[in-house]
Amino acid sequence: MQQIAIGVDLGGTQVRAALVGEAGNLLAQASEPTDAMAGPERVLSQISHLVEGLLETDRSLQPLGVGVSTPGPVDTTTGIASDIPTLAGFDGFPLRAELQRRFDLPVSLENDGISAAIGEWRYGAGKGCDDLIYITVSTGIGGGIVSGGRVLRGRKGMAGHVGHMAIVLDGEACPCGSRGCFEAYASGTAFARRARLVAAGDAQTKLGKNGKPIDSRGVFLAGREGDALANRLIDEEAELLGRGITNLIHILSPEIVVIGGGLANEFDRLHPRIRDCISRTAMPAFRDVPVVHAGLGQNSGLIGAAALVFL
Ligand SMILES: [Zn+2]
Repeated sequence: MQQIAIGVDLGGTQVRAALVGEAGNLLAQASEPTDAMAGPERVLSQISHLVEGLLETDRSLQPLGVGVSTPGPVDTTTGIASDIPTLAGFDGFPLRAELQRRFDLPVSLENDGISAAIGEWRYGAGKGCDDLIYITVSTGIGGGIVSGGRVLRGRKGMAGHVGHMAIVLDGEACPCGSRGCFEAYASGTAFARRARLVAAGDAQTKLGKNGKPIDSRGVFLAGREGDALANRLIDEEAELLGRGITNLIHILSPEIVVIGGGLANEFDRLHPRIRDCISRTAMPAFRDVPVVHAGLGQNSGLIGAAALVFL
């Protein structure tokens, strides 16, 4: 009989739970919108409710444990959350202890970027690699690192917040409270903001002229339809990602860089320019590091959370 774990991916917009087999296979899953402003009690009851629903489908299932991916930064050595920017009321909340109180099974807790890196390392695009960097590009930019065959957790288990390396002195404001971060320039949010800013002053572009607000998806769509400004913005986005990735490659010397998150849906459009940037800006010995699309798609964190139970 195959071993089973429960994975929970707690996000700012969705909370998801899944039953996952030891081969990383999704057996069942459920999700609902996160009641992000309602406080920890409500969010934890959402998690319990989803997990109970999954277990009710087959009472003979005996999962080994529950792995939970949380938005960070959370000190996973104590399990106590400090301030989670995307969820209200978690400051000082004993997240792991409160989760443990709700389940009869062992509970593991991991910061979301690390969780997704583990998913890709064990079961996804980085399977078999001892050294990998995972980067998620969506509303923000997060990440996780495997180095020398070990998950790099750092002090308090908070390593891998790659979105907050500052790349511009006194640059754009970042949600973390600082300025000039990689995330403030290359996240999906930053990309859409830049598009709105320049589209207003461009007579030729179709962006923003059809009455719809400009978002990332719309820019890629316009690019495919030949919109020059949209394509320039996309190339610039790929260049920014390439710069950030080059920094990380120099520091960590990975075998592979895995890109996930919402913007990775456009991986094929972004990849050549990212590749080109690395070839121009990395030191020659680092230029051949492959950059690949996440193998588990939007499930890297969910499956990675379940993988914590099997590790
Ligand atoms: Zn930041």
